[in-house]
Amino acid sequence: MVENPQPRSLCFRFAVRYTRAVTAGTNAQLSSARSLPVEAATTSLPGIGPTLAQKLAERAIHTVEDLVWLVPRRYDDARNIAPLGQVIDRIRREAAGDDSGARVTCAGQVLSCRFHRRGSRRWIELRLGDTEAPPAGGQAAQIIIRWFNAHPNMAKKMARESRLSVSGRVVRRGHHAEMANPDILELISPAGRVLQRAATIIPRYSDIAGVPAAKLRRARSAAIDRVDGGLVEGVPQSVCAELGLVSLRDAVISLHSPPDSLSIEEVALLNQGKSEWHRRLVFEEFFVLGLAIARRRKARTAEKALPCPCPPDRDSALAGALPFALTGGQKRAIAAISADLTGTVPMNRLLQGDVGSGKTAVAFAAAHQAVSAGRQVAFMAPTELLAEQHFGTLDRWCSALGIRAALLTASTPKSARRSLFRAMDTGYLQLAVGTHALLSEGVQLPGLGLVIVDEQHRFGVAQRVELRQKSAAATPHLLVMTATPIPRTLALTAYGDLDVTVIDEMPPGRTPSVTLVLSGVTGRERAHALVRQCLARKERVFVVCPLIEPGQDEIRKDWADATSTAARLASTFAPARVGLVHGRMAQADRDGVMQEFRSGGLDILVATTVVEVGVDVPEATVMVILDAHHFGLAQLHQLRGRVGRGGGPSHCLLMTRKSTTPEGQRRLAAMAEISDGFRIAEEDLAIRGPGELLGVRQAGLPALRFGDLRQHGELLVKARDAAERVLADDPELSRPEHAMTRRALHTRTAGLAIYGAESG
Ligand code: ADP
Ligand code: MG
Repeated sequence: MVENPQPRSLCFRFAVRYTRAVTAGTNAQLSSARSLPVEAATTSLPGIGPTLAQKLAERAIHTVEDLVWLVPRRYDDARNIAPLGQVIDRIRREAAGDDSGARVTCAGQVLSCRFHRRGSRRWIELRLGDTEAPPAGGQAAQIIIRWFNAHPNMAKKMARESRLSVSGRVVRRGHHAEMANPDILELISPAGRVLQRAATIIPRYSDIAGVPAAKLRRARSAAIDRVDGGLVEGVPQSVCAELGLVSLRDAVISLHSPPDSLSIEEVALLNQGKSEWHRRLVFEEFFVLGLAIARRRKARTAEKALPCPCPPDRDSALAGALPFALTGGQKRAIAAISADLTGTVPMNRLLQGDVGSGKTAVAFAAAHQAVSAGRQVAFMAPTELLAEQHFGTLDRWCSALGIRAALLTASTPKSARRSLFRAMDTGYLQLAVGTHALLSEGVQLPGLGLVIVDEQHRFGVAQRVELRQKSAAATPHLLVMTATPIPRTLALTAYGDLDVTVIDEMPPGRTPSVTLVLSGVTGRERAHALVRQCLARKERVFVVCPLIEPGQDEIRKDWADATSTAARLASTFAPARVGLVHGRMAQADRDGVMQEFRSGGLDILVATTVVEVGVDVPEATVMVILDAHHFGLAQLHQLRGRVGRGGGPSHCLLMTRKSTTPEGQRRLAAMAEISDGFRIAEEDLAIRGPGELLGVRQAGLPALRFGDLRQHGELLVKARDAAERVLADDPELSRPEHAMTRRALHTRTAGLAIYGAESG
């Protein structure tokens, strides 16, 4: 298994396609509002026929407005152009031997210019010389410029001794500096006549595959012209006035053609995407997202659930059933959940707690409250092994309180299954623990009042909905548990529709694992020694690899793989018993090996990240992660959580290579230093960005065009608050001053994947 980074554009494309499909209906009611010129399809632009429109659509550009939102990637400041000599000197100093090509803007004098044609190839070759006098005895600095596929007339215009300013990438070939296809900023004839000039801040756009640059330029400029006819401004004027925001229209226009009067610092901000206009676009996006989340929450709270009052003897009942005293964190989580269950609005709560924080006991308390109110409870786990593990724990606690519980998985025998179904259907069974099998056809839970889902990342929303439908009457309460810590900014977007409870405290007596980053021969020897000590104490070892089998391609050929590692370790640590488990094995085989490891039939378990979720092996005290730099921080943290569950000291060994990239080293260093899951998640967010952190589609993170949760957290909160204020005042956005806000909400967000709705 290898991380699979999702390019942002891809996610966005997904979101937008979906938007178009589902907004068709909702738009009908808006059709009374006159549509704006920017709302037309891209095919209404000059030069954009169906073929190019398709290419644009692949980049999520469907309407004129979409094209307008595609602001420049960067800007060249053509207002102050450096003499060629200076530029060349600087490049020599900065990047001796570097051939990657720095982008420069420079001016000089045309020394020669010729048009060449060879076969079908034609180009212009121009020598540009420094206008300053060369140092005594030296030669004037020169650069060779080529324009490919250029027209012969262009060469005629650039006569010897013209003055020319260009902007482009410079590469060094031998002793020469060269530029290919630079942009011409200024051309002045030998007589001093200005033949061409763009002495301003020049926007630079990204190319779009399959769309010729010239056509795109023309279409874009027509699109920008249409902004004069109005833009859908989601943020109402009142909010803009209050927060001192410029109009979206001004922001967009300024981004496409920045005023000449900007200072150097302002141009720098523009180039970093941090100008006030960029921030306005980000705000627009977050604001509309905030509206969507708030509305969805409202729709959900309109549903009815059956209330489950808290039994008066709850605390003593829990104290009698659980073999430990609850931590403060657990008690606070239980209180929040208990209050939700008491109400008639269906609970939609995410329980976040680091690995080992004791979420199961919290879930048990919730189940106890629902059962005491006469409801049935379904507890779903993503794998059979985890379902069994949970059932083992829960059943012990249940029997202490006389709660009737049963386990249902795919391997429950047919005969047992029939009576189980009956027990469920008649309401005799109070707690059903299981896997997807709980969704199977025979299952009816007419009194279902609470659904608990463990590790939601492996669970689709469709399945949650299905489970909800097992109930005869009202909407059941929903409790989702996860050990993946989610930074606040992410929780606000990806999980905007969920209430979040965090268990912020570990059970007592837990010593955090000692994490070591090891590399080279000494590193390996150190790891071997620790593993031997562990085995000598009759404890167990996890070894995790990034690949299942030897890597086939150039990039992965050296990465550690589970299959050969297992074989190697079996001989290195003989007579230790070594098992192998990975994602390509059948679930039943996988569970079999895990079970063997748990029960002590294996000493070393070599695995891929399939061991990431939930498996509890208290005797495992060493976690070795090979080529650890190939894993994400959140993943490493989950893996580390697999050891040290027995209470004694434990180790997590991050094996890496001396050649690891600085980014990889930074990640591993963060792991060694930080043990708190939330801080790791923040760090992960900072290093990798939100998409990869959660796996965009999986977790329902809405795709953002501008907003970056890493740097715009504070804007996000502001925008959300503003959105909530506006809705509190005008819930249906029916006031005339909110007509555009309503329009933005419907056209831009109908398809955003927001957790708890259509995301997975
Ligand atoms: P999580 O699911 O959050 O990773 P578990 O619910 O599996 O954690 O609990 C981890 C371990 O800690 C279990 O062995 C559990 O019995 C134990 N545990 C849970 N709560 C407490 C507590 N308050 N005091 C002591 N041990 C606890
Ligand atoms: Mg758990």
